[in-house]
Amino acid sequence: MTAADNGENGPARTYNQFASDNYAGICPEAWQAMDTANRGFVPSYGDDCWTERACGLIRELFETNCQVFFVFNGTAANSLALASLCLSFHSVICHDLSHMETDECGAPEFFSNGTKILHVGGAEGKLDLDEVERAITRRSDIHYPKPRVLSLTQATEVGTVYTVDEIGAASDLANRYGLRVQMDGARFANAVASLGKTPAEITWKAGVDVLCLGGAKNGMAMGEAVVFFKRELAEEFDYRCKQSGQLASKMRFLAAPWIGMLESGAWLRNAQHANRCAQLLERELSTISGVDIMFPCRANSVFVQLPGRSAEALREAGWRFYTFIGSGGARFMCSWQTTEEDVRSLVAAVRLAIG
Ligand SMILES: *Cc1c(COP(=O)(O)O)cnc(C)c1O
Repeated sequence: MTAADNGENGPARTYNQFASDNYAGICPEAWQAMDTANRGFVPSYGDDCWTERACGLIRELFETNCQVFFVFNGTAANSLALASLCLSFHSVICHDLSHMETDECGAPEFFSNGTKILHVGGAEGKLDLDEVERAITRRSDIHYPKPRVLSLTQATEVGTVYTVDEIGAASDLANRYGLRVQMDGARFANAVASLGKTPAEITWKAGVDVLCLGGAKNGMAMGEAVVFFKRELAEEFDYRCKQSGQLASKMRFLAAPWIGMLESGAWLRNAQHANRCAQLLERELSTISGVDIMFPCRANSVFVQLPGRSAEALREAGWRFYTFIGSGGARFMCSWQTTEEDVRSLVAAVRLAIG
């Protein structure tokens, strides 16, 4: 920290980090859009021109007349979406590593009044459809929580991406048994950037019913959109948002950043940039002997096994990153704000830590 950082605005500090894409700030396009929306009086609770325009842009992006709601974060988006698809005696099938199973503190169960999460395995963070089918068909009696929703994470928690065909196959299986399909798209933009397909092709055209579309990790301050491709599934969803404390009174500031991101194309540029940084990082790390890449890098994260005590050494050198998957597995996550220099200095630090 330099003396200049401790000016009259208080201490400023930046970290050497690849911990998460939510360590990044707000991208200029989102920031500018909030500033533009910060004019005069407009109606509250979403009854305003900014919210209308943001919803319209999301409909254009997905090329369909979907129903759109803005909530504060991804936990709420997932939980409320599931609650609208399930009754309390239903169950949702998701991957062992899925955010809703491992990182939402029981919120999906809480907001659905008891819907049970059934989690299954699968290589590279993707659902194994045979396991899914077994979870659906294992029981059909009244004592088993009735499977109602299949949830896919796109991009996955380990930085892989479902292809169009894989999404279609999962949806077909779900439809065969009367399940609906929800997609956790906290990093949806990274998946679009990776696949080079349109948002429509990897959602409703492939059988997805509801998408939780991430904003925060893509460069906004906060906010996710819940996108219902089957409008009837959104019935009374506004009441769920209000009851759960997710209805923003100054909704224009939750909506406006979407306008900035979508009109400028920043949503895709940011994701392409983050993905490129991760690819560079993967390439560089794979040249260091002793470093094992754990999953193919398809989005904006790289998972590696670091030898010996090198993860600790890297931390002691001031680097922040998560090690929550497997023993010694380190996750390095890139964002719109990551620079090539950041990548190169991490690689140098890894070399040093390994010694
Ligand atoms: C970050 C993330 C979320 C949303 O998390 P919040 O902290 O609640 O915004 C949801 N799903 C996945 C896969 C995530 O990585």
